Amino acid sequence: MHNMNEVFDSYCQFIRVITQRINTHFEEQSEYIHCKEGCSLCCRNGEYPCTDLESQFLKFGMNLLPMQLKVVIEDNIHNIKNEKAKFKGNTFEYVCPFLINDRCSVYNFRPLICRTFGLTYYEHSNGKNFLKIPFCVKEGLNYHEVYDEAEACLSSELFKQKGFNVEPQAYNLSPDFLISKVGKEMLGLDFGELKTIIDWF
Ligand code: SF4
Ligand code: SF4
Repeated sequence: MHNMNEVFDSYCQFIRVITQRINTHFEEQSEYIHCKEGCSLCCRNGEYPCTDLESQFLKFGMNLLPMQLKVVIEDNIHNIKNEKAKFKGNTFEYVCPFLINDRCSVYNFRPLICRTFGLTYYEHSNGKNFLKIPFCVKEGLNYHEVYDEAEACLSSELFKQKGFNVEPQAYNLSPDFLISKVGKEMLGLDFGELKTIIDWF
């Protein structure tokens, strides 16, 4: 691929393919999903890992926003970077600079991690599968009805006891998997380096 337009065309194709898949899973699990407009807990306390290609698409989206909104976002970015420079701990978590009035200002351009968030999925590391249940399970949100806190897993027993129709599922939807299997293998995309969202600015 030679120019940015071609890369973004392929990236948009990637987004279409994975969105279809992610939406199907959200529909399948709809009994356990409590996401709704204005719920922004998952944009308030994270690192938001994002690859180079995703960050370029995000910046492209940001540039399409009205100047006034861009100024607010730039101000947020500036403040977060200042806080990060002073931070002494291991994991610096922050309110995403693109969250404006409890809504994502770059919704159509948001990174992959924001698209899969809310579902339960497997992450592969060192030959093992790790279950990723959205943290909001502990806030009485997604999957809380079937969450076994002692075992930190989704419980088939609770599913049966509570009479849900569809069993809670963990999908093969980790950003790593989607990037390597769909993005790289199917569409030949090069996603580049992975950093937290704020480090791309
Ligand atoms: S994933 Fe959880 S915190 Fe995020 S919008 Fe859905 S319910 Fe709210
Ligand atoms: S990019 Fe949008 S969806 Fe993703 S964390 Fe930021 S505000 Fe939330």
